[in-house]
Amino acid sequence: MSKKVYNFSAGPAILPQPVLEEAREGLLDLAGTGIGVMEHSHRGKAFLKVYEETEALCRELGNIPADYDVLFLQGGASSQFFMIPMNYLAKDQTADYLLTGSWAKTAAKEAKLFGAVHTAATSEDRNFCYIPKKVEYSSAPRYVHFTSNNTIFGTQFQQIPTAASGFLVCDASSDIYSQPIDVAKYGIIYAGAQKNLGPSGVTLVIMKKEITEQGASGLPTMLQYRTHAANQSMHNTPPTFGIYVMGLVFKWIKSLGGLKAMSDNNQAKAAPLYDYLDQSKMFKGTADRDSRSL
Ligand code: PMP
Repeated sequence: MSKKVYNFSAGPAILPQPVLEEAREGLLDLAGTGIGVMEHSHRGKAFLKVYEETEALCRELGNIPADYDVLFLQGGASSQFFMIPMNYLAKDQTADYLLTGSWAKTAAKEAKLFGAVHTAATSEDRNFCYIPKKVEYSSAPRYVHFTSNNTIFGTQFQQIPTAASGFLVCDASSDIYSQPIDVAKYGIIYAGAQKNLGPSGVTLVIMKKEITEQGASGLPTMLQYRTHAANQSMHNTPPTFGIYVMGLVFKWIKSLGGLKAMSDNNQAKAAPLYDYLDQSKMFKGTADRDSRSL
């Protein structure tokens, strides 16, 4: 191979070398089956094993309670922007959105197609360079949506929002599994894989089973969460290669010591950069100190 080049782009992002090396083997021959992972039937034993291991590792690392579904969907995080309100927001209901960046705004825009959207907080006045402290929820939101890490603006929630009513929905596309996560506080967590978990084409959705069941019926089959929850994300052909690589990334995270170790490692990587920016007379960061992302 030519010299390894590091890609610091948010996503698709660089993948761990051991993951790529194992995936290279699996591409040609999955676990000695003589068939590459992309060529295996998603209903065959070899792939089912991959699927089950991936889900089990996902649950183990994230300490995901048993009353949560773990789904591997397609359509990117962007499809969750509409799938969530389509399933949970009726015309006469309100969902609260915390507008902390352009992805949060895009999510809110989609929700308006289905019901009322209340802006509970926004940092647009200073081009999203901070996480707002002032949050005013509507009286009875169906759910509260926030973007835990604002990929473009470099800000990150230091504490998760707490609303008196409604369930919490988090777009965690750019910080999922970069630190421990208290799943029980959330109704739905979703993330496109291509930044922290694997290749593009697979989207991880972690959702409380009780919420899965409450989704609107009468929607196209593929757009109901219950369809995917009832069929191990295999109502139709799932993104098998993406699920496989995600499983390898989970294995790699586990080998490093899990999410606490990921967080320590991320702090250690961020510190020299932020320390430098803090003392530099020439450069300054774009995000407020108390809001900046790892
Ligand atoms: N949310 C966030 C926070 C993102 O950073 C991105 C992608 N940059 C998206 C959503 C959109 O994700 P996808 O491309 O998987 O639809």
